[in-house]
Amino acid sequence: MNTAFLLLKPDCLRRGLTGDVERTVARAGLRIRCRHRVELTPDDTRFLWSEYTDSGHVLARAFLDRYLTGGPSEILLVSGEDAFEAARRVKRSVRSRHAMGLFANVVHAAERRGELARQGNHLAGRCASCTRPFTSSGELNAVRPAGADFREHADIPRLVDSLWPKLQVDLEAPEPYRLDGDPVAAVYLGSDRDHSLDSSVTAVWRALPGVELGEAVLLTMYADRVGGFPIAVGGEDAVRRTHRALLDHGIRVCGTGPYHPSR
Ligand SMILES: [Zn+2]
Repeated sequence: MNTAFLLLKPDCLRRGLTGDVERTVARAGLRIRCRHRVELTPDDTRFLWSEYTDSGHVLARAFLDRYLTGGPSEILLVSGEDAFEAARRVKRSVRSRHAMGLFANVVHAAERRGELARQGNHLAGRCASCTRPFTSSGELNAVRPAGADFREHADIPRLVDSLWPKLQVDLEAPEPYRLDGDPVAAVYLGSDRDHSLDSSVTAVWRALPGVELGEAVLLTMYADRVGGFPIAVGGEDAVRRTHRALLDHGIRVCGTGPYHPSR
């Protein structure tokens, strides 16, 4: 028997999914031994998602704060056989049914055993029965690849406000960005695990001449979500130049092809 935690995020509570999570916890053979309502602050999100930094992950930090500090969350301490793995299974199961994107994914659980102790001890300790429940050590999350410091280029809070409603429902396919020439070819972008949101958006923003930052965010997020999407269309030459620019910015999961609009 050992202990793990699940964080029910504000959208979980708002959407009334707590009962669904509790049933999933029970089916995973876990027992809830302590639970507390918490109001996360920007300092909490900075501590919990330490793989993102203030200057290298401006977008991820801004979206996380908007997502997680905007209402109550709830922490569940759960115990059972290999609680760490069981809590991760609960997270995946709940997300497969209810998540609607990176910033609407309902629940959090530690992905690494070292993070279980680091994050769990930060979140717990709110009553006598959950004082520093975690002692295991192990690997921590590494800092993710950084992107541009977009604070120099855009009003980030305003950008987050304008995109937020679209990120709380199933993201609609954005219009591919129009490059020069007749749209006969397309640059395709996929889901690149070697990149972070900020590093991918930085590459897209630099590769598509004149694109708005918000548009680059939506194109990148949608391509990540569906695993392959024509983010830009145009003539053969413009498409080739844009593809080259993506490669130069370290994007590997991209390519070119003919474009046949489906609409
Ligand atoms: Zn407690």
